[in-house]
Amino acid sequence: MNYCPICGEESEFLPFGLIQRQNALCPVCNSLERHRFVYFLYQILFMNNNFMQNVLHFAPEKCFADVLSSKKSMINYLPADLYPENYAHIRLGSGRKVIKLDACNIDLPDNSVDVVIANHLAEHLEDDKKFVSESVRVLKKSGVLIFTVPFDINRDTTYENADIVTEEERRIHFGQEDHLRIYGNDVQERFKSEAYTISQIESTVLPDSSREKMGIVYDRAYIVRPK
Ligand SMILES: [Zn+2]
Repeated sequence: MNYCPICGEESEFLPFGLIQRQNALCPVCNSLERHRFVYFLYQILFMNNNFMQNVLHFAPEKCFADVLSSKKSMINYLPADLYPENYAHIRLGSGRKVIKLDACNIDLPDNSVDVVIANHLAEHLEDDKKFVSESVRVLKKSGVLIFTVPFDINRDTTYENADIVTEEERRIHFGQEDHLRIYGNDVQERFKSEAYTISQIESTVLPDSSREKMGIVYDRAYIVRPK
């Protein structure tokens, strides 16, 4: 039996993916391995949180939106995307919708957000460094950005090539028709800045038995904190 840290239910996870991965999909909330890893980190970081949090979530996954928007007394949940029309399936109650925000030019005040979450967003953005610096700008001094990106563990440096522009070429080189790069082992170096710290957390910090139970595979997440 598996356990999903997002919906909190026990069930048998289902296979998922073009090349099917076992223990991948939670049948209750439809979360995948990487969603559960990031949500688990979020829970650990804010385990003893006892104040109202502003949580800004880019490219919001429904499984996160359902649980974060349900904790209204603790969390002011702000799901956002440049194309909010793609998120009609997310229902937040009281007629609230996913808001339109550009992750590289966030229309929110400085020092106003406690948590920014963005899974697999940066690889779609021309200026991925701007996304991180903008997230840091809107974060409170005590705030954190948690983000993940698709990566190739066999690459020392992130692979970008401005000549690769067609959907077909991008699929071949970067793994998806709308990806602009494939990250390598240099993510911390790539985003290095005087304005914040960035650290990498691997899912292998969890014991094998916990990862198996929660259906979490090898993954990396980045924790960014304003200096
Ligand atoms: Zn679930």
